[in-house]
Amino acid sequence: MASAEKHGHGEEKRKEVFVCQNCRFSAHYDYFGRKPPFTKSFVLMEEAFVVKDPFSADGGMITLGSSCCICGARVCLSQGCSLFYTKRFCLTCVKRNMKEFPKEIIEELAKKRKE
Ligand SMILES: [Zn+2]
Ligand SMILES: [Zn+2]
Repeated sequence: MASAEKHGHGEEKRKEVFVCQNCRFSAHYDYFGRKPPFTKSFVLMEEAFVVKDPFSADGGMITLGSSCCICGARVCLSQGCSLFYTKRFCLTCVKRNMKEFPKEIIEELAKKRKE
């Protein structure tokens, strides 16, 4: 994975950066996976990029995004970038595999895009 790249930045904490491949939203993340070590007993529905919530004292967190289960693209959770239907899909894969999704989901998606 590209996350092993070494950059010569002199930052004291070297955090990995999550970049949405669709909208280019980017942010540092603390953990990728389903069981963030800094939350007490929270298990995510999917492997996700998460950051500790700085305003929460009891292990709160913010989910930034996840990776598409088909192509592995990193996408944020915005409706314009990904869809969660049992697994996370980027919208490119949703469009390519329209037939695999229930009609309601596709219609929902089409509605949201027009708004
Ligand atoms: Zn995005
Ligand atoms: Zn995809």
